Amino acid sequence: MFCQFTQSPTSSNRFEISHTAADHAADSSIPGTSTHSHVISAITPTTLLNLISSPSSNISADATSKLVILGQTPAVTVCVVNLYFRTPNLLRKVHIPGGLPMGLPLGLSGFGYLIPRTIPFAQNPERALGVIFDSDISPTLHTTVPADVLGTRLTVMLGGHWWDGWTSFPNESEAQEMARNVLARHLGITEEPAAMATTLQQNCIPQYTVGHAGRMTLAHQGLQESFDGRLRVAGSWFSGVGVNDCLRAAWDVAQGLKDADRVGGSAKKKALSPVRTGLERFAWGRPMALVKRTAPEQMEISAMEEHAVELGYFENAQKYRDD
Ligand SMILES: Cc1cc2nc3c(=O)[nH]c(=O)nc-3n(C[C@H](O)[C@H](O)[C@H](O)COP(=O)(O)OP(=O)(O)OC[C@H]3O[C@@H](n4cnc5c(N)ncnc54)[C@H](O)[C@@H]3O)c2cc1C
Repeated sequence: MFCQFTQSPTSSNRFEISHTAADHAADSSIPGTSTHSHVISAITPTTLLNLISSPSSNISADATSKLVILGQTPAVTVCVVNLYFRTPNLLRKVHIPGGLPMGLPLGLSGFGYLIPRTIPFAQNPERALGVIFDSDISPTLHTTVPADVLGTRLTVMLGGHWWDGWTSFPNESEAQEMARNVLARHLGITEEPAAMATTLQQNCIPQYTVGHAGRMTLAHQGLQESFDGRLRVAGSWFSGVGVNDCLRAAWDVAQGLKDADRVGGSAKKKALSPVRTGLERFAWGRPMALVKRTAPEQMEISAMEEHAVELGYFENAQKYRDD
């Protein structure tokens, strides 16, 4: 744990954050306590809740019950096995008599593949989620290594929904054996890997269940009532788990700090709940636009929600509308 809120955020205009000695091992000149006007949290909500629920935080019971909702989103555990094979372009060389399973074409290339839930356990005894073709995604990762010794890098993902409710998980050698079985059966790759790395990532991908938007609206109210916009959240637990969603959430929070008015949402909703928390979209409504492809690499906004346009949410919105 890197920091702890020690002062009632509602009794002051600023946060006091005390740091443990370990946080400052690299820079002993940083004092043990620092003061901030705003905090943006991009960490797991359960950790955040531990940080803000100190006895001195003085948060009302009602607000606490709304804040607790932040930590109620379930998440799945994934084991990631990275494999390195000395043979380059292995994906283009493998051959299984009669073709690859699941209708996969021979001579594979691309991002990789995910295994749908409809594939029964009998056909997926390793409980695999998919395979990523790292060599294709980042072929020049090791720029100093000549192309002919680059080898082939693949990642096998195991677990996820298959491990719901599990309390113990395959160990490193079991996971690596399962990954190799997947590659042998799906892709015909039986070469001995020159290197493997295994990482068990517990509760790493949040799963938004039915009612998520409503719960986030309540959590927004809890943050608003307790911190009045001075604590805001971003990250995969709230408004999208993809990297692009996380970047967008971070951008929105940063943008919201410097420009209080430029975000969509009906004036009525905004009047009821004016403070930003990183979750305000759930209370204000997400501005929608219809985008159409006009050329292979060209998109145009063809329709926008009126209130979003009025609030200037979409860059050059007027231009698109007038065209
Ligand atoms: C196996 C796997 C494959 C995925 N594949 C894709 C994909 O192909 N495409 C895609 O778009 N998304 C993918 N995702 C999802 C995406 O990678 C994540 O949802 C996203 O990276 C999460 O970003 P984040 O900033 O919310 O969290 P994180 O990247 O987890 O960042 C949180 C950070 O907070 C730090 N932290 C935690 N506690 C504290 C504390 N108390 N004090 C200080 N720091 C703390 C952590 O060390 C960490 O660095 C994948 C996820 C997984 C697990």
